[in-house]
Amino acid sequence: MRVCIAPFLATLLLPVCLSLGVQRPELRGVWVHGTQLKTPAEADAVVAKIDRAHLNAAFVLVWYWGGQAYFQSVLCPMGDGVPPGHDPLAYMVQQCHQRGIQVHAWFVNGSYGAPEVRNVLDQHPDWAVQDGSGTLWYDFSKPEVRRFESDLMIECLRKYDVDGIHFDYIRYGPHQCYCDYCQQTFARRYGFAPLAQEYRTAFPAGVSVTGNPLAKPTTALVLAEFYDGTPAIALNKLGKGTVLLLNWHAENEMPPAVAETVKLTLGIWTTGGGPIHLTTTPANRAEYGNGALETMRVCLTRMGYQPTSIPPENIARMTSDSVLVLPAVYLIPAVTANHVEQFVRRGGRLLIVDGPIKSMQLPAMQRVTGFAAAGRYLNRDDVIKSTGRSPLVPKSKHVMNLWDWKRRMSKWAEFRKLGVTELVRDVYRRAKGLKPNVQVTAAVMNTLESADAAYQQWPLWLREKTIDYVVPMAYTDDPAELSRQIAQWKKVDASLQRIIPGLSIYQDDAGKAVTRDLALIRRQRTVCQQQGAHGNLYFSMQYLSDPLVNVLGTEFYPAEAPVYIPPRQSP
Ligand SMILES: [Zn+2]
Repeated sequence: MRVCIAPFLATLLLPVCLSLGVQRPELRGVWVHGTQLKTPAEADAVVAKIDRAHLNAAFVLVWYWGGQAYFQSVLCPMGDGVPPGHDPLAYMVQQCHQRGIQVHAWFVNGSYGAPEVRNVLDQHPDWAVQDGSGTLWYDFSKPEVRRFESDLMIECLRKYDVDGIHFDYIRYGPHQCYCDYCQQTFARRYGFAPLAQEYRTAFPAGVSVTGNPLAKPTTALVLAEFYDGTPAIALNKLGKGTVLLLNWHAENEMPPAVAETVKLTLGIWTTGGGPIHLTTTPANRAEYGNGALETMRVCLTRMGYQPTSIPPENIARMTSDSVLVLPAVYLIPAVTANHVEQFVRRGGRLLIVDGPIKSMQLPAMQRVTGFAAAGRYLNRDDVIKSTGRSPLVPKSKHVMNLWDWKRRMSKWAEFRKLGVTELVRDVYRRAKGLKPNVQVTAAVMNTLESADAAYQQWPLWLREKTIDYVVPMAYTDDPAELSRQIAQWKKVDASLQRIIPGLSIYQDDAGKAVTRDLALIRRQRTVCQQQGAHGNLYFSMQYLSDPLVNVLGTEFYPAEAPVYIPPRQSP
């Protein structure tokens, strides 16, 4: 049976332990979905695997799926499929504790986890982020949302002998909330009007841009510009066809005003019922992956279209009533460029998002885009203004100054971050008041930049001591990148005392998630050890295959070890 040694004792005993062959404390955790623990038999199988792998902590997802709980709660119903009278969390705690394995109750705080309104949002529709996107996230700026989630986590802690409570999705999603409450509270706090939704839904539109713009328009008509005059949206005619260019990574960050331009254009282009095809080139996929194509597919699907992916060799055979979409395809071989040009000349319609900057030396790409060159990389808050040349990009009455927009953006971000941080602070304070030894932890974004962009201030939580440790989700498949990320975390916590790397044990195999290559898992664990990490948390249980259990139980963790717990923090 594994034992937890108090941290100060662990430090004193460490030399003795090592000389006696006793293992140094280490977090050996795995994230487990509650849906895998619906019955005692399912839980038994999971616990047996965890035990064989010599893991010492299970982080069990107990609240998600549109407000379903896998524990007995007065606030939410029991999860679907749990037999009456069975309590998955109570059973898990009992079984794990018998084997010296910790159990942390894991909550998904931000994302609702169901595509439609059900438990929680059926009673409180105003608790969802209101941005018109249709995706459901909780609005942490509202005190009653924070109170509800805090009450739920504390209820779980009070009723169950768990070793910790664990935040996840403790951030905002890709969308902002513009509800009356947010706007009014913001105005009261900062003394000036909040960011109104019209700044996103009409031109001039505020947008955070990254991207690789084309420069020097020749035949292209610029319909909208960034604040410094860089073309943002352009239309080019070639032969019988038309080309619309969105001159940045618009698939990542598309304000509703721009989405409206795309919808208007596609509406005109598809009146004859022609299909929409997405494509990329093998060279581009090898160099930059498939992310932009998949994001663009989601974007178009949300607009009500059903784009299909085709290989680039099919462009030559596409009918002239078709629409072709090239999302962030920088590398285009000459033969494909010629096929694209012929397709457009025949009357085809082409939507380019983040243009072919690595192929602009090809005359065919210059003719297709109506631009002569590649411009400079963009990464900034910006404003897109209509040039008034086309009803596809209508001018509106409101005025927007870039500096005013930036000031509002920075205060808006501050306002958003505070909502998230207030929930963490409240849960930490209440949890420690109830059970001082319990660990309050969070799964967090894996870089300081991505955390900031999601309004998640985990470095602040560590500094102000409102979290015991954080687990950045470092799911990259590149060990060098993992090493760079850990080096960045050390700027916040030099000895990784309160930062435990979360590693992925899955990978994508032709669209299907499978157990990650064991050699890669070995290399990544080695990177963590070399950097001095106090353990790992693996995502997730369902990819813990028998061969991987064997690697963990015999190679990584041949002997059992006490769970790593960071030193107690002074309040
Ligand atoms: Zn709101």
